[in-house]
Amino acid sequence: MNQPILRLALQKNGRLGQKSLVILEKAGIDIPDFDRVLKVRARNFPLELLFLRTSDIPEVVSDDAADACILGQNSLMESMHYLELQEIRQLKFGKCRLAIAVPNGSAIASVKQLHKKIIATSHPILLQKYLYQHHIEAEIIPMNGSVEIAPELGIADAICDLVSSGSTLHANNLHELETIFSSEAAFVVRKNLDASKQAILDEFLLRIDSVVNASRLKSVIMNAHTTSLPAIEAILPGLDSPTITPLAKPDWIAIHSVVEEDEDFWNKIRKLKAAGACGILVMPIERVIY
Ligand code: AMP
Repeated sequence: MNQPILRLALQKNGRLGQKSLVILEKAGIDIPDFDRVLKVRARNFPLELLFLRTSDIPEVVSDDAADACILGQNSLMESMHYLELQEIRQLKFGKCRLAIAVPNGSAIASVKQLHKKIIATSHPILLQKYLYQHHIEAEIIPMNGSVEIAPELGIADAICDLVSSGSTLHANNLHELETIFSSEAAFVVRKNLDASKQAILDEFLLRIDSVVNASRLKSVIMNAHTTSLPAIEAILPGLDSPTITPLAKPDWIAIHSVVEEDEDFWNKIRKLKAAGACGILVMPIERVIY
């Protein structure tokens, strides 16, 4: 009898495919080199990867040809198949927003003013839903790419497209009016997987979660005089309380904690120094299992 295997669909080109492979690699799943092939089997895990066009992925998973996929939430919600699929994890990368934008200098200053106007978009289903919910009647022109050029070509008054850094909008003399959907990469499975696939999926998720949990965390070790400990502890959040180890030098300790690398990270480091921490080491964390 054939051993059960989990089939995972990934983007062949898109922005998410490469980062998805990096997560698998960090989770210890060994993928052989696969130049130009569309299907590859992991060496050390019952997993087969299928490389597909983004727009085909939801259908392939809902049709049973694959069991799971890594996809942008925008692509999932734009698909006719999203009801047959289940988003079970957000993966903290591929963050972007679906936004309505108009040309600089346009008389349209709010979404309400889009009534009876023409909007070009890469996401007609999400846009239609938004317009319906906000009682705005507008004409939608679906486009597969280069949406930002539509107003300049005179075929649309506004656009609705994915924005990441905002530089494409800026380069095309457009500005954002409203975000209608925020998106990131998600791990998505077909509903009602059979029990043997579910067991593989559970093992797979344990590994993937450990990598995603670790993605923004840093291991931080510093030395300090014991009298500085209360002030340092107040700055450190940590997974639990920090680990304290005595140093050979009398009254000195090493303090080990885990710090999230968020917008406040460097501010925290500055505060630690001011509180008496020195020799601060910042190291990556590979995996965290809660
Ligand atoms: P940016 O200039 O960084 O705002 O990126 C905007 C351009 O990249 C637009 O043409 C978008 O269609 C495309 N884009 C941005 N984020 C994504 C994403 N997560 N997935 C696919 N395309 C994206």
